[in-house]
Amino acid sequence: AARSIVKPLLRLRDAAGQMAQGHFDMQLRTNRKDEIGQLNTSFNEMAQELAKLDRMRREFVANVSHEIQSPLTSISGFAKALKQKRMSEESRMHYLTIIEEESERLSRISQNLLRLSSLQHDRHPAQPAAFRLDEQLRKVVIALEPQWSGKEIAVELDLEPVTVHADEDQLSQVWTNLLGNSIKFTPVHGRICIRVYAGGRSAVVRITDNGIGIPEDQRTDIFKPFHKVDKARDRAVSGNGLGLSIVKLIVELHEGEIRADEEPGGGSVFTVKLPLRKG
Ligand code: ADP
Repeated sequence: AARSIVKPLLRLRDAAGQMAQGHFDMQLRTNRKDEIGQLNTSFNEMAQELAKLDRMRREFVANVSHEIQSPLTSISGFAKALKQKRMSEESRMHYLTIIEEESERLSRISQNLLRLSSLQHDRHPAQPAAFRLDEQLRKVVIALEPQWSGKEIAVELDLEPVTVHADEDQLSQVWTNLLGNSIKFTPVHGRICIRVYAGGRSAVVRITDNGIGIPEDQRTDIFKPFHKVDKARDRAVSGNGLGLSIVKLIVELHEGEIRADEEPGGGSVFTVKLPLRKG
């Protein structure tokens, strides 16, 4: 009887030792239904979770390195080219502009990574206060005016007065990222509609565009860090794939929900639901 308890415990001890060395991909087999069997099952679940986290961490580091590497390669390439003495003023300006743009891209990546990491460490909205969501949306639309009017995009507003209790700066970031994406992925002369209303216990914000849309099989993945639908295309519109991860984290910190759908006739619609304050 003692052996039937001691033996599986020794196996567990060895497996835990292996995990301590960083080998997370391990599963213990057992047919037992008693406490020892349950301990094995819990151990297997823990190992699976740790293996998943480890994979995500590696992927994240690989993505960060890739995202940083490509602007650095072009900065160093164009700086080398600039060393040549004989070069027209026009080419010089062209190379310098690329270096400037790529440096800005690097700076955006590092800002977004910092934001993502600080949000991941805060478990609650940083500074919740009551404010009018419709007024905030109007301000964000005005702040992004140069971008949408530059593409001659028509922006329609349908804003009911809605008050939420939330972190104002964080939510402003949510609308800036969502509207920024709609502008980026909508062609010249397109249309964007922003709607806010109180639906039951939630404040609902819907941002609809008639742009290129998001394939159905990627509508969940786009919220993962560095996920871009089309890497070549998205590079041309200066994205780093972090905007929607930040959006999702902020919405979740506020106990809200976000989803992406297809707008009938093409285009995308992002729906954010935030809890309205009780009482
Ligand atoms: P990015 O900085 O690349 O815009 P995001 O995390 O904000 O990163 O978005 C991830 C990807 O989701 C984008 O690269 C794009 O492929 C897709 N996407 C986001 N919003 C839209 C939209 N309104 N229309 C079409 N595609 C979109």
